[in-house]
Amino acid sequence: MGSADLLALEAHVRREVEMTAHPRTEWMLPRLHRGKPALDALIVGAGQSGLCIAFALMRDRVGNILLVDRAPEGREGIWVGFARMPTLRSPKDQTGPDLGIPSLTFEAWYDAAHGAGSFAGLNMIPTGAWHDYLQWYRRVLALPVRNGVSAAAIAPGELDDGGRCLLVTLSTGEVLAARKLVLATGQDGTGEWWMPDFVGALPADRRAHTCEAIDFERLRGRTVAVLGAGASAMDNAAVALEHGAEVHLFCRRSEPSAVQRYRWLTFAGFMKHIGEMRDEWRWRVMGNIMRAREGFPVDTYNRVLAFPNFTMQLARPWTDAHMEGGRIRRAGVVRRQGRAVERSLHAAARRGGSAARGLSLSRPRLRLPRTCAGRGALARRHPPVRHRCDAELRAVRQQHQRHDDRGAQGGGGRYAWPVRRRPATALEIAAGL
Ligand SMILES: Cc1cc2nc3c(=O)[nH]c(=O)nc-3n(C[C@H](O)[C@H](O)[C@H](O)COP(=O)(O)OP(=O)(O)OC[C@H]3O[C@@H](n4cnc5c(N)ncnc54)[C@H](O)[C@@H]3O)c2cc1C
Repeated sequence: MGSADLLALEAHVRREVEMTAHPRTEWMLPRLHRGKPALDALIVGAGQSGLCIAFALMRDRVGNILLVDRAPEGREGIWVGFARMPTLRSPKDQTGPDLGIPSLTFEAWYDAAHGAGSFAGLNMIPTGAWHDYLQWYRRVLALPVRNGVSAAAIAPGELDDGGRCLLVTLSTGEVLAARKLVLATGQDGTGEWWMPDFVGALPADRRAHTCEAIDFERLRGRTVAVLGAGASAMDNAAVALEHGAEVHLFCRRSEPSAVQRYRWLTFAGFMKHIGEMRDEWRWRVMGNIMRAREGFPVDTYNRVLAFPNFTMQLARPWTDAHMEGGRIRRAGVVRRQGRAVERSLHAAARRGGSAARGLSLSRPRLRLPRTCAGRGALARRHPPVRHRCDAELRAVRQQHQRHDDRGAQGGGGRYAWPVRRRPATALEIAAGL
């Protein structure tokens, strides 16, 4: 770590923030609620969005603000939690929290922390490094965060001068009056984590959701079923494999989605102007993206393919599961050539048992080609695999094609075609412990 370089960078940040501070005049009038100062803004969540919003407000001289985060200091966001991938999925040159200040970029921080030119040698941003950067960002900008406190309830209120405010009850029981409230609660804030009832009904030590803390060491030598074929499913499968488990990843469809719509939307025209769209269009665009199945990135796929004890089971949805003789048994539907056939098979091996004993290996199993050669290659190798191709798929593919032709950005590229899916939820792991 170049601590001298970091100190120099921090001085540089302060100088650049100062140089770009305009207007400098404080302009917010103090407002009171029951005789006490009300906050101009309360930001719930001190992940990267909350921190960035706080900095933007402070630059505009809205300084009477507070961030609260239920996580302890240093554990905010997802990066040291359930984001179980070695690197970010977004391209390394994607800026954001710096708000256009060069010394605040990840690149500037990384070079100062790891030596000049280090950033140039990176392919993707290591997940832990991104988290460290956000910690530094918070510290160098002196953002006012209270950790270990969650927002529990919100109610309308009235300021002493008759103006409107919101009253936010914290987990401590304290009630804060705020003129504006920002919910920067990330994916946690969009709803409840979900798993099918029959998975939830399994003993708690035999199944887990990817958003939970998972003791992967316990999976060593076991057979693990991963339900779902998105990026988080692959990440969790990879960590289980790295811990010596045999992993079977179950995909409901006959072909996993490889479309990465999120990648597609990361270009300036979209990101900077989606706010200008009419509400109806924003809703439609985001609804379409959220309903689609986000494909897993190539790197993620290659991570699991490095293990011979990884198998992807296509067209093998789980419709039921229960414990029997210490093993997880599951009823499934095997889709073959458009027909659904009810099946019951062992999904996870008995403690210490082999996969063959636990799994019905007579079922048609499909391993994806070990290179990420795309759908055409898959179809040639496995002709019975039927590809979904509805109007939406064609439209989006054309959109991708146009986008690729323009060469707008690297990343997702051609490894992309969409299939509809239910609204995004993280995926579940059913673990045969
Ligand atoms: C596995 C995975 C990989 C991802 N990879 C990428 C990637 O490579 N690139 C990318 O750009 N995006 C990625 N994302 C999306 C990612 O979640 C966001 O980019 C990023 O975390 C969003 O930051 P945020 O601040 O909005 O939310 P978060 O980082 O989720 O932070 C929300 C914060 O709110 C706090 N909070 C929630 N509820 C409350 C409450 N009631 N009271 C107080 N505090 C609360 C939480 O403790 C948390 O610290 C990934 C997501 C996942 C799940």
